[in-house]
Amino acid sequence: MNNACAYCGAANAETADHVIPNSLYPPSKSNSKIQRRKVPACRPCNHSWSDDEPHFRTVLTFAGEPNQAVRELWNGKVNRSLRDIDGRRRFSDVWAQMQPIDTPEGERHKIYPASDVRLLRVMRKVVRGLHYHHELWSPVPDEMVYVDILRFGIPKEFVDAMATYHRGSDIFRYQFEVFDQFEDIPMSSAWLLTFFENRKFIALVWKPTFFAQLSPAEINRFSGVRDLAQLEQSNS
Ligand SMILES: [Zn+2]
Repeated sequence: MNNACAYCGAANAETADHVIPNSLYPPSKSNSKIQRRKVPACRPCNHSWSDDEPHFRTVLTFAGEPNQAVRELWNGKVNRSLRDIDGRRRFSDVWAQMQPIDTPEGERHKIYPASDVRLLRVMRKVVRGLHYHHELWSPVPDEMVYVDILRFGIPKEFVDAMATYHRGSDIFRYQFEVFDQFEDIPMSSAWLLTFFENRKFIALVWKPTFFAQLSPAEINRFSGVRDLAQLEQSNS
C-alpha cells in the first residue's frame, strides 16, 4: 500500500488532497455523483496551496466568458470570499493580475492567467496530482511541469486521439498523452486542461533525463517555476 505523498514523496501522507480544488464546484454540484479525485498528501504540501486555491478560483472565473457554473460561483462562493475577512486582500490580488487595455469604449481590464504565479502553481499541482492518479511516474517535482494558456490550435486528429476525462464537463475537462516510449521526445506527458468549458491550458511534464541536462537559462524557459519577469525582459 503506497501511502507516500503524491506531490513530494514523503512517507506517511496524513491527509487527502482534492486534485481539482473543491472550490471550483458551485453548490448545485455538491450533491452530484461526480467523484472528486483525491490523492494522499503530506500536511506541508496540502497546506502550501490552501491560500492559492481561492485565488486560482477567483482568477479563473473572471478570466473568460462565464458559463452557468461560473455565474453560480460568482453569486455565491466568489462573492462571499471577496467580502470575508481576507476579501480585500483577495480582491487586490486579483486586481494586480488585471492589465488595462484600450478599447473603442475606453479603458478595460483584462486578466492574464499566464502571468499569474499563484494560479500557475495550482495548475501545476493539478497536473502533478493527475500524474499520480493515472499511475504515471510520481512524485512529479513542481519545477518539472510547464504550464501556459493554450495560445495555438492543436490539430484535431491529435486532440481526438487523446483520451478525454472530465470531472463535471462544465467544470473541468482534461486530456493527456504519454510519450515515455519515444526517446527523442523531451516530454514525459502532455496535457490539455479546460476549465469552465472555455479556459484552456496546456501542461507539459518533462522527462527527468531531459530536465537534468538543461542549463540554468534553459531551466528558466522550461521550468514550471520560471522567473516570468526575467523571461519578459529577455523576450523584449
Ligand atoms: Zn508532500
